Amino acid sequence: MCFSYTQIVFNIPRGTRDFTPEDMQKRRYLEKSMSDTFNSFGYGEVQTPMFENLDLFTAKSGEGIIDEIYSFPDKGGRNLALRPELTAPVMRFYVEKMQMEPKPLKLFYFGNCFRYDRPQKGRYREFMQAGCELIGTNTPEAQAELIAMAYKLLENAGLKTITLSIGNLNILSVLFEKLGLSKENQKYLTPLIDKSQFEDVYDALVDFNVKPKDATAFLEILQSSDVEKISEYLKDNEIVKKELNDLKIITGLLENAFDVKDYEIKMSIVRGLDYYNGLVFEIEAPCLGAEKQLCGGGAYDLIELFGGRESPTSGFAIGFDRTLIALETEGYKFTIPQLDAYLISVNEDVLEKTLEIAQMLRKQKITTDVDLLRRGIGKSLKYASSINAKKAIIVGPKELEQDSVTIKNMETGDQEIVKIKDIVSKIK
Ligand code: AMP
Repeated sequence: MCFSYTQIVFNIPRGTRDFTPEDMQKRRYLEKSMSDTFNSFGYGEVQTPMFENLDLFTAKSGEGIIDEIYSFPDKGGRNLALRPELTAPVMRFYVEKMQMEPKPLKLFYFGNCFRYDRPQKGRYREFMQAGCELIGTNTPEAQAELIAMAYKLLENAGLKTITLSIGNLNILSVLFEKLGLSKENQKYLTPLIDKSQFEDVYDALVDFNVKPKDATAFLEILQSSDVEKISEYLKDNEIVKKELNDLKIITGLLENAFDVKDYEIKMSIVRGLDYYNGLVFEIEAPCLGAEKQLCGGGAYDLIELFGGRESPTSGFAIGFDRTLIALETEGYKFTIPQLDAYLISVNEDVLEKTLEIAQMLRKQKITTDVDLLRRGIGKSLKYASSINAKKAIIVGPKELEQDSVTIKNMETGDQEIVKIKDIVSKIK
């Protein structure tokens, strides 16, 4: 008889990744470090579904977002979307179930997000964000704490070189108004400003009939980190006065209370101009090159849009995957946990006893693995060494007669006979 079949090889979908046990240890390390930092600032963790009704995201970002996300009708004809970010879902959750909670409400999350992005290093179609929302306050101290927490999340995780930029969209709006730009023209300019394509901004301004002298002055302010200069340029505007005064308090607190001294004032930070409404900030890891933005955040208005009662909100999202790449690029030494003990039974007669000892060790929180292949002492020791076990425990009939086993230190090669009752203390 002759069988013929075509072998099918299944590939991982474009822009997604599989994670090995070693990858997962690094990811868990970062998750633990970040959740410890969130907790240390009094934040509580939340989780929302991986898919939402599509209109949640179109309400926040407009119909244009449909081209950038994964959306589909389900079998009941509902239009759903895999979440591209978590601010809208968390705000939906807040409006549905948490509006009565005492304020301020401090929520953090980890979650995978999905975007129909063009994949490259640091840009995926499935990626993870770590982020938070602060609901019920917009005092300068709240905003300073928020920015400081974003900075500390990255610093505490082990990153050495990050750059923090702080901007303000209310000031940017006043700058636009001063030039008499229509909303449509502003919309055209914002992506150019976001990408720091200032020559293109200049050309567009001139096309929009802005006098070259005014366009130059605008661009100078946009690229200036000098608060006094910005203040002088927009001195008659009350909104600007208040925002700059708050900015001074925020930066003072960052420097003196939170020890965050490296930052830059940058009015060219744009972000989602539609719902951000004042403070905005970004943190980058210069070592990452093109996809260097690790974190983006600020103050925004979404609650009323989602049918809730007005309350000031701010938050940020950190690219979890990029943070890991940045740590690796900087040469961060991840501690990979080692297996404490690898048990080898000399023959089948002592198998049950070997498994029993393994269980006893696990109960004592000693990480333990056992030879499950019956492959003999030599090969098992080789395997124990390949998985980087600290100790090998050889269980043989002769030693068992004395209620003992042989423990081999895999680093030094030293061997000793130890009573079963003393294994735990010997290994700990
Ligand atoms: P955003 O919600 O666009 O402000 O993104 C917040 C952070 O998520 C960014 O600063 C990036 O670090 C990260 N991020 C955004 N899009 C992607 C992506 N496609 N792949 C990996 N990380 C991303």
